[in-house]
Amino acid sequence: MSKLMVSVSGIRGIYGESLTPEIAMRYAAHFGIFCNRGKIIVGRDSRTTGPAMFNAVTSGLMSVGCDVVDLGLVSTPTVLLAVEESDALGGISITASHNPAEWNAMKFVGENGMFLFPENADTFINSLDEPVDYIGWDKIGKLTKDDNATERHIDKIMQITYLDVEKIRSKKFKVVLDCVNGAGGMIAPQLLRDLGCEVIELNCEPTGIFAHVPEPLNRNLGDLEQAVADHKADLGFATDPDVDRLAIVDENGNCIGEEFSLLLSEKFILSKVRGDIVTNLSSSMASEDIAAKFGVNVHRTKVGEINVGKKMMEINSPVGGEGNGGIICPEVHFTRDAPAGMAIILGFLAESGKTVSELSEQIPKYYFAKNKIKVDPSKLDTIMQKVPDIFSDYQLDTTDGIKILGDKFWIHIRKSGTEPIIRVYVESETAEKSEQICIDTIEKLVR
Ligand code: MG
Repeated sequence: MSKLMVSVSGIRGIYGESLTPEIAMRYAAHFGIFCNRGKIIVGRDSRTTGPAMFNAVTSGLMSVGCDVVDLGLVSTPTVLLAVEESDALGGISITASHNPAEWNAMKFVGENGMFLFPENADTFINSLDEPVDYIGWDKIGKLTKDDNATERHIDKIMQITYLDVEKIRSKKFKVVLDCVNGAGGMIAPQLLRDLGCEVIELNCEPTGIFAHVPEPLNRNLGDLEQAVADHKADLGFATDPDVDRLAIVDENGNCIGEEFSLLLSEKFILSKVRGDIVTNLSSSMASEDIAAKFGVNVHRTKVGEINVGKKMMEINSPVGGEGNGGIICPEVHFTRDAPAGMAIILGFLAESGKTVSELSEQIPKYYFAKNKIKVDPSKLDTIMQKVPDIFSDYQLDTTDGIKILGDKFWIHIRKSGTEPIIRVYVESETAEKSEQICIDTIEKLVR
């Protein structure tokens, strides 16, 4: 039996097992009370359990007096933007993001159109033990529909000030698009056509029957690579089921790796708007190389999109995100947005006149090694406490777990927030070196 995962980013479980309609309804009711029983915007991705989840969530919300606005099947960034641009007091995105089809989840959105800040999420989670205070028949909430949220999202992207839409259109890019039958099919084909692209759709039917493992990692995108090569396309785009992560395939049919989605965006946006970059501690150090070229700094935050977005807002950063293909373009909003990322990448291609492979070759190449150790939950802290001694010769960053900063390499060691696991991430100048450091580190930790 799977366990319901509860974290600052929401709740997640296997539908019908750890995540039942009763649980969804109760969490939604608590969230409605947390949002002062005000208006709540709800959207869902394409999962087959989405409509059932939506009904449970809506029932919980309306029964505590919240008016609910139903966006229907939309991307997560569309939900976030709709909340930001309305008078709603919160939102819920019903999506398990990159997880397989049997999962579903609720991501809670604050009034400002960003996921709950960690401190607010804690307050919300702590309220969950209290009984739900339902209201009577005469105060029950109303349900309305909003069918234009995706259109408004596309409009906002088209209005990015430094995006030369006409120039992009003039290039008539041929793009193969793989939305893994997630919510991407609701927005990405239209956006790309509006940008003058010839779109070859692969898995753009939002059926929730994912055509491949839905996380947009190189190893899951073989069909897209093949299709780009077969169609002699300019590039390929892949999104995860709720469309906040973007992966890119170059004109030769090779995945360039999710890290490059952010790195290329940083390079293009910094050429237009000067300002510091924000990314998390586990994303590539190529960001520092790009920032140095433009004479700006990189701010590193805890892992988790909300930490990056919050910091970007504080320092008025023009670009940031996460190395997992999560591009944040503040002209649209301070949250990860794959459609916005597509427009930025096409803008870069159009203005540079270069191909995807040429643009990626200009970015310093580093190599990751990632592994994890399963440990007895009681030993998690003991192992983490050993880290400063093992790496006493290095500079350490303890913002989030422990990051060891070496010369042209780093090691990031973190406890998982949901499982008894320690994750070890390494980046260096060669694949062999990263692998070796990763193996050595794990050996030292478990010794
Ligand atoms: Mg996602």
